[in-house]
Amino acid sequence: MDGLPMGRRAFSSTSPSFRATARVGVAATGVALALLLVVAASGCEPVPDGTPYDLVLAEGQVMDPESGLDAVRWVGIRDGRIATISQIPLAGADTLDAAGLVVGPGYIDLHAHGQDEENHRLFALNGVTTALEMEVGTAEVDEWYREREGQARLNHGVSVGHLGVRIAFYDDPSDFLPSGPGGYAVATDEELDTIRSHVRRGLEEGALGVGMGIQYTPGATRWEVLEVFREAATHQAPVFAHVRGFGVEEPGGSVEAFLEVMGAAALTGAPLHIAHLNSMSLEETPRTLQMFEEALERGLDISAEAYPYSAGLTSIQSALLDRYETAPDTALERLQWAATGEWLDRESFNRYREEGGAVVLHLNTPEMEALAIEHPFTAIASDGRIRDGVGHPRTAGTYARVLGHYVRERGKLSLMDALRKMALIPAERLQEWSPDFRDRGRVREGAWADLAVFDPETVEDRATYAEPALPAVGFHHVLVNGIPVVRDGGVVEGVAPGTGIRAGSWSPGS
Ligand SMILES: [Zn+2]
Repeated sequence: MDGLPMGRRAFSSTSPSFRATARVGVAATGVALALLLVVAASGCEPVPDGTPYDLVLAEGQVMDPESGLDAVRWVGIRDGRIATISQIPLAGADTLDAAGLVVGPGYIDLHAHGQDEENHRLFALNGVTTALEMEVGTAEVDEWYREREGQARLNHGVSVGHLGVRIAFYDDPSDFLPSGPGGYAVATDEELDTIRSHVRRGLEEGALGVGMGIQYTPGATRWEVLEVFREAATHQAPVFAHVRGFGVEEPGGSVEAFLEVMGAAALTGAPLHIAHLNSMSLEETPRTLQMFEEALERGLDISAEAYPYSAGLTSIQSALLDRYETAPDTALERLQWAATGEWLDRESFNRYREEGGAVVLHLNTPEMEALAIEHPFTAIASDGRIRDGVGHPRTAGTYARVLGHYVRERGKLSLMDALRKMALIPAERLQEWSPDFRDRGRVREGAWADLAVFDPETVEDRATYAEPALPAVGFHHVLVNGIPVVRDGGVVEGVAPGTGIRAGSWSPGS
């Protein structure tokens, strides 16, 4: 590591501007500039046979959360990977100016429901290079990957979803979150065997883990949850869990829900990832964070994620909303209809519950949100999906909001720590099961060139609950496997460099 932490240098109003600092660095290498086209890289190795790199990111502030590198560098990219990180200029067949900008790893979103071009465009403009559907997942893993082959803007991956398996097995009418028997049926022992074997098949087809939405399947007993964890543990695949409940009230509160999955992980040995700790904890956030730390201290293989918003969003027909059937009418005042922005009352709640659609739940506070986001061990993940412009601002704004609001405005999270939470921690969560992730989430020679280049002084989310599909601003260039998907702040049309990433144990035809 060299230099001050970026957070202080870039954001202090009294120090010379970041841009000026970068320019001084260039002047100091004036002699080296003469060697512009022939000399490259650390150790001043000549470019092999004089061939320029496919693409060069010039003169950016390269920040790598793994090594701590934080300095002005030229990044040379060849065949989709970072070939060199150089202190002196490099020649490229194509060059992107990164002067005054941060060149960091692209973000790995562990909780990305939106898996079409509408969503991938918004994700890309938010610095995401790998979008993973790990919580809900899918029942048909191989088909999911094949449908996207060669067509995706971003790297992508999926878990085998316990929700989807139940929806298929019980013939539930829903296609995403169950609203009928997929959620409420209690499995017999024989049915449980079938559910478990379906989870096994998904893992054999290369799923990146096992997804669970326990709150959406109240019919799934504690034993069924254990059985799913046992299947994951057999393969050492991670379980990505939306836990059984949230809030202070017991039974059904956050502490009990966290204990269930932590207990299952401890008993079975399956690695555990807790989805959106923020919205599963609410005012219990200090306690669930303490439990998370205690589990880590005990040596449990556990991780957790959070998104930087105080409201959640889900399907109004799902079991998560069951509690509002009997709750006092005043509880409904915190619910907002996503499509129109109207606030619900008993009449409209009942009507929309019949019709179906997305509802926004304003249940958390900015203070609890900040605790979850600024905790050193939580990953950042969006839980994002937009459908025809309707959804939650987290889809388009999550990463820019962490960089703009949390790093720049609140100043309690360093820029390097933010990058670690958005790129490195997610990669580390997956790399045992899917070794491809050892070469992602880092800015290192040999790693895939998944890079997000942004201006730390202007990066900002713009999406709101009223306009959730407004793209973030401040990301100048975003590269996926070395190919720009965002260039000079705009989406590049007609490119699909995203790879479908599967488990390491999977091979085509296996
Ligand atoms: Zn969830």
